[in-house]
Amino acid sequence: MSEFRNGRTLEVPKKMKAWVLDDPEQLRLTEKPIPQPGPAEILVRIDAVAVCGTDLEILSYGLPAIIEGGMPFNKNFTPGHEYMGTVVQLGQGVDDFKIGDRVTAEIHAGCGRCERCREGMYTSCSNYGLNYGDKDKGHRANGFTTDGAFAEYAVNNINTLIPVPDDMSDEEATLVVTAGTAMYGLDVMGGLIAGKSIAVTGPGPIGLMGVAMAKCLGAQPVILTGTRDSRLEMGTQLGADHVINIRQENPVDKVMELTNGKGVHYVLECSGASNALNEAAKMTNRGGRICLAAFPHEPVPVDLAHLVRNNIYVYGIRGEGKSATHRAMAFMKQKRVDATIIHTHTFDFAETPKAIHYAKERVEDAIKVVVKMN
Ligand SMILES: [Zn+2]
Ligand SMILES: [Zn+2]
Repeated sequence: MSEFRNGRTLEVPKKMKAWVLDDPEQLRLTEKPIPQPGPAEILVRIDAVAVCGTDLEILSYGLPAIIEGGMPFNKNFTPGHEYMGTVVQLGQGVDDFKIGDRVTAEIHAGCGRCERCREGMYTSCSNYGLNYGDKDKGHRANGFTTDGAFAEYAVNNINTLIPVPDDMSDEEATLVVTAGTAMYGLDVMGGLIAGKSIAVTGPGPIGLMGVAMAKCLGAQPVILTGTRDSRLEMGTQLGADHVINIRQENPVDKVMELTNGKGVHYVLECSGASNALNEAAKMTNRGGRICLAAFPHEPVPVDLAHLVRNNIYVYGIRGEGKSATHRAMAFMKQKRVDATIIHTHTFDFAETPKAIHYAKERVEDAIKVVVKMN
């Protein structure tokens, strides 16, 4: 086959370039054999991959990546989990996609056989990381428990792949899983948010996509809190009705004022600040719901009595469960959300460490940094 797509051949060579994690924060460019897709799997040629906050965690601390039952260091492991690409090879019996299709990937394939996977909670698979040696429960989470996308190719279960429309750029398509994570947070809180009020705390990528998804679902008002005006401005562009700079105003007082003293029905907590849950609880109305999509590194004191007395529900999410990514893609495809607003920088594959540096140090106000293959 000598077909081309995006100027690159669809022909699969024998070896590929891949970044691997040696010691913490030490990425090294090497060559690996190209993985072979099995039944229900597809080989994807990576076209673009975004750097995620969780990549930075993995590079520095290892977890939540688990390779061969332990830390991911010095195991020839390739990180990277927010990616899109082109279908170049089909596993046995796969007819769900065809060669040349552009696809974006969810992270978690799950094992498909545990209680949680059967419930659609494949990001909380009970067999997480049990895919090495003679233990292969079928679990796959590229960039976490299996090789990810800071490489030229990756194998994906078909259940993780979503078609990308022709008029969506590679860069935008890498952001679908971020929007899907925010959507999952709204799902677990009940999902029926039309006409309900919501505060999103923390304007990182998930928080900003949370604003956009809540707006698409008809929430009213959508309130965003944060510390940097440039991020809050993006929130406004993505549909926030009100933004609160918490350096200038008390967020709880302000949310109360904006909701006539009632508080919001929902809080999507995306800041990971140590007092975030307590503040979220104070801005939530009685019987309201909070979803934690970020977390502090240390244990923190929580005013449990306030939560109990006010019948406030607190949820936690891990990743992008229950096919939420498909619903997020539907809004992006319909142009109801312009996710490109949060994409700030692009680097070549050879510059992957620089891309990671930009994301980590937020150089030039970087939010979503994308590595593009060429
Ligand atoms: Zn991520
Ligand atoms: Zn499972």
